[in-house]
Amino acid sequence: MKTKGKELLKNKRIAIVGGGPGGLTLAGLLQMQGATVKVYERDYNSEARIQGAIVDLHYDSGLKVIEAAGLMDAFKASYMPGADKYRMVDKDLNIRIDEHGRALPDIGFGNEHFRPEIDRGALRNLLIGALLPGTVVWDSRFVSMELVDNVWRLTFKNGATTTADIVIGSDGYRSKIRPYVTDILPLYSGATIIQGEIEHPEKDCAEIYKLVDNANLIGMGIGKTIAAQPRGDGGLTFYASSQYPEHWVETSGIDFNNSDEVYAWLVKYYEDWNPVFFTLFKACKQFVPRPLNYFPLDQQWDAKPNITLIGDAAHLMPPSGEGVNTAMLDALDLCECLTGGEYGNIQAAIAAYEQKMLVRAAILGKEALDGIKDFSSPSEESITKLIQLFTQSGTQQV
Ligand SMILES: Cc1cc2nc3c(=O)[nH]c(=O)nc-3n(C[C@H](O)[C@H](O)[C@H](O)COP(=O)(O)OP(=O)(O)OC[C@H]3O[C@@H](n4cnc5c(N)ncnc54)[C@H](O)[C@@H]3O)c2cc1C
Repeated sequence: MKTKGKELLKNKRIAIVGGGPGGLTLAGLLQMQGATVKVYERDYNSEARIQGAIVDLHYDSGLKVIEAAGLMDAFKASYMPGADKYRMVDKDLNIRIDEHGRALPDIGFGNEHFRPEIDRGALRNLLIGALLPGTVVWDSRFVSMELVDNVWRLTFKNGATTTADIVIGSDGYRSKIRPYVTDILPLYSGATIIQGEIEHPEKDCAEIYKLVDNANLIGMGIGKTIAAQPRGDGGLTFYASSQYPEHWVETSGIDFNNSDEVYAWLVKYYEDWNPVFFTLFKACKQFVPRPLNYFPLDQQWDAKPNITLIGDAAHLMPPSGEGVNTAMLDALDLCECLTGGEYGNIQAAIAAYEQKMLVRAAILGKEALDGIKDFSSPSEESITKLIQLFTQSGTQQV
């Protein structure tokens, strides 16, 4: 049986748990179709937390969704021109690939190879700006929920409760909604990132800051990398990646809340690297270790009548430049399934969305897993491969 578009959501209240790129995009797209939506986000407000560094949106995913959401002009006003450039150095700080100051193919919006970067905070603000006032309910850390007479009753850490007919989990890699959909657990990829934030890189790690040059810097040595990216507020985020055993963060003996201790450990681990890299570690006062987990590529579950997942909550994978893009594409696909009039009931719409989402996630997840070893633990061979890749794509090797 076919329904008219939007019929399925008539008189339905939708609770989206998690106000990251996936959840906010979905809320905006659903509101464009007249749906009744709230986003429950654990942050105290939109400024409560640094969202991280830049993220590039892709032609056939993130940018396609921005266009569908009617936000392309706002995006063009907020993105960071030139931040999509790359500079790669080796552990001795010799430049191996440099896209700065070189003639690159002249591509821009509308070209499938153009991947404009935007600060994550700016992207979040752009998506929030498109929502009806009061859509995001801040300080709403989801704790649990129960289904009573086909209505979800959600409870938050601050004691608040709400009810909803449909729940969408977009609460990221440690999703608390996911267990209501599936009990499939994440696996460890073998790689861990130690992430750091620097507030005043121009004075605290000036040489690296110049090399970053408001774009992407990757330092590659055998078995370990250090990547650095600008933030829209002038700060800088870096990622020190390598292969570590599972549960290494807990068993390493390092107190990651003690920045002096992490600094001393990193300097020793990177002891054969140019000490200029250590200025990054010195300038950082807060380190976050991130074991890179992923959900099994062959995961499947039976679609539920009134709950589903998007983004990392559905298909966490190691970083490969696709996570934000895929979360936004999930939002578009789910919105189209729920409002496009193709399906007879919500469960059938959710089933169609999940089938498409899981197939796509399996393909991207495989690519991410293949890529993460080269990134977190590069060999001479993988560094050469990367340089060839950049050279072929129009970038010149130094
Ligand atoms: C180091 C690193 C680098 C990356 N680089 C890139 C990149 O360059 N490009 C790219 O596309 N992707 C990148 N990714 C992946 C990307 O960050 C994620 O895939 C993407 O953010 C997923 O979006 P999401 O909306 O599903 O979840 P998230 O962005 O994780 O958002 C989840 C939201 O839910 C909220 N939340 C969590 N728990 C609760 C709760 N209990 N109650 C209420 N709210 C809750 C959180 O506060 C957050 O706002 C990277 C990831 C990492 C770790």
